[in-house]
Amino acid sequence: MEQNSSNFIRSIIKEDLETGKHNNIITRFPPEPNGYLHIGHAKSIVINFGLADDFNGKTNLRFDDTNPLKEDQEYVDSIKEDVKWLGYDWDDLRYASDYFEEMYNRAVLLIKKGKAYVDDLTADEIREYRGTLTEPGKESPFRNRTIEENLDLFDRMRNGEFGNGEKVLRAKIDMSSPNINLRDPVIYRIAHATHHNTGDKWCIYPMYSFAHPLEDAIEGVTHSLCTTEFEDQRPLYDWVVRECEMESVPQQIEFGRLNIQHTVMSKRKLKQLVDEKFVDGWDDPRMPTISGLRRRGFTPEAIREFVKETGVSKGSGSVDPAMLDHFVREDLKLKAPRTMGILRPLKVVITNYPEDKVEMLDAEINPENPEMGTRQIPFSREIYIEQEDFMENPPKKYFRLFPGNEVRLKHAYFIKCEDVIKDENGNVVEIHCTYDPETKSGTGFTGRKVKGTIHWVDAKHALPAEFRIYEPLILDEPKTEEFEDEAAEKTFLDQVNPNSLQVIQGYVEPNMKDVKTQDKFQFFRHGYFNVDPKHTTPEKLVFNLIVSLKSSFKL
Ligand code: ATP
Ligand code: MG
Repeated sequence: MEQNSSNFIRSIIKEDLETGKHNNIITRFPPEPNGYLHIGHAKSIVINFGLADDFNGKTNLRFDDTNPLKEDQEYVDSIKEDVKWLGYDWDDLRYASDYFEEMYNRAVLLIKKGKAYVDDLTADEIREYRGTLTEPGKESPFRNRTIEENLDLFDRMRNGEFGNGEKVLRAKIDMSSPNINLRDPVIYRIAHATHHNTGDKWCIYPMYSFAHPLEDAIEGVTHSLCTTEFEDQRPLYDWVVRECEMESVPQQIEFGRLNIQHTVMSKRKLKQLVDEKFVDGWDDPRMPTISGLRRRGFTPEAIREFVKETGVSKGSGSVDPAMLDHFVREDLKLKAPRTMGILRPLKVVITNYPEDKVEMLDAEINPENPEMGTRQIPFSREIYIEQEDFMENPPKKYFRLFPGNEVRLKHAYFIKCEDVIKDENGNVVEIHCTYDPETKSGTGFTGRKVKGTIHWVDAKHALPAEFRIYEPLILDEPKTEEFEDEAAEKTFLDQVNPNSLQVIQGYVEPNMKDVKTQDKFQFFRHGYFNVDPKHTTPEKLVFNLIVSLKSSFKL
């Protein structure tokens, strides 16, 4: 897709190394621990870690934990797990909150230089004074406080003398700048809240746009890669680094964020789906979170390849989710054992097969990867087939089972439908067939041909299993990724698909008895499935549909 332009960041880094601007590069992945990572974050991870790896540089995992109200240790733990699972190893593990003292000192430096002031305006007033794109802002009446007064007030803010929102510290830049971000942005606010890392040590917290450039500079990050919504913040980023007199000067570079159709991709919305119980937790297999994708059965390889294919560019179109499906099929094709599972069972009795006989049939584990060997499947007089593989009155071109027709049972024999057994309501409850011993699979029988091949499991030996079949969680995503208002929020919940999960009870081959959670299989004719880690019990296997086999998707 964007393969050619995909290297604009790479080109910048290359040049910086060639010109000697940097001898080594350092990138960082800076999540805020206020939710679980989603596949959009995977893009940032692949770019940051991937580029650093390519140039023998370093990548820090940094928790951008400057907002105590939303952050939690649970999120910190899940983020670490997810980054590792995706296949990356950070050089240093950092917390922005470890730099609070240094950030405070830099803010004091700004005050001393006359570049920051304590403001008593309320949040609403600040917004009002800020002006608009067409109108310049208005200076706060507190803008010209003396340095001494500002130092004193800021110190008292830190000491907890004021309530939430009573005062803020603002950078003194330019109230008439065409870039609204430069109209004296708030850089510190008061929040009497316990922080997951620093406890009650602080009651003032730096704002993102002040904290982030300092964090980067403190760590010696050379290339600070972020998404394009921060483009307008770049002048402020550079201002902070310069005016705070940071030794190391990081460069912010923006790339387009990943969006996927039928997928909401903001932690805030995902959290809402969790909190309001639309899903069964952050790791629900329908969620675009890394933990959800993992539980669904997607592999790190598939996610990485998908993200790479979406490319690195300034644009941010929406990607077709079928593209991710394509990469997981590619990855599992050679890895996943083949097996047979019946999702909606219909009993078939093979009337001419001896009552007590059980034979073991040989089947390849993966015809596309013969090294995986063979497995043994029991076959006897009673089997289950899919309900949809039988029709009493079939339309033309239906080649599966119907009265008088013969089909091939995969890995076994030809069977012919002789009789249909119904209950008092006329529902088909059982099919009676005969088999032809001559037609055994693998014996090279060429006597006659049949058009249909269906799968089955032996009724006596099959294991009960639950299958969870998924559809997209979001029917049609609203066009409000960045700036949400209440109305948009409503539309988004309206779009939750009520049929996104279907739970059905069926059977699998008996040799599945020793499978482990997270094992992945290709069920013949159905698709790829993952053994669910949350619902599987010693009594019952639960399989999540990862993807079906068919796709019209073309790269
Ligand atoms: P969200 O809006 O989902 O909460 P965020 O950007 O606020 O995401 P952070 O924890 O701040 O989440 O993100 C960490 C890094 O991941 C940032 O550098 C951010 O730009 C990047 N990132 C987040 N979402 C995407 C996305 N959809 N595509 C690419 N990068 C993303
Ligand atoms: Mg955020």
